Amino acid sequence: MSYTCPSCKSENIQKSTMTHVSGISKTKGVGIGVGMSGGPLGGLGAGIGVGKATNQTMLSQMTTAPKISSPIVHALTTWILLLIASILFFFAIGIGIAVVLDSTNMGEIPVSIVRVLFGLSVIIVIVFSFWGAYKAYRKHDLKNKETMTAYDEQYICLRCGNVFRITQP
Ligand SMILES: [Zn+2]
Repeated sequence: MSYTCPSCKSENIQKSTMTHVSGISKTKGVGIGVGMSGGPLGGLGAGIGVGKATNQTMLSQMTTAPKISSPIVHALTTWILLLIASILFFFAIGIGIAVVLDSTNMGEIPVSIVRVLFGLSVIIVIVFSFWGAYKAYRKHDLKNKETMTAYDEQYICLRCGNVFRITQP
């Protein structure tokens, strides 16, 4: 079965991934620079720089791969935010309990109970923040896979330049 461009019905189409890679060429260059600076002492400096330049055809630029954001970064950000939020939450509860005890004159809570409550809140904070981070990782990992699949199924018409998607069965 042959695929055609949905816009001009041309069979002269190419996969975006192929077009993109074949249109890139890398060149290396060496440059020498001399610089002068003002000020009371003045100065003259020279430098040699080796640079890489990437030449890309228009067609290649049109079929550039989509930007993928790292799921690790999203997971880490979520983890830190949830950690701060849940610590503040338990901190507020702690202050609330202290204020209530103080106003009702019920006296102090035994140290052993305070320790247990503190330990429990630490466990909840850890479990909650890691669970959130895992959820964030899964969500972005899935999104990235969908984006890459869409790019993998993307074609460009070499006749009219139309970019379209052919979903593989
Ligand atoms: Zn076309």
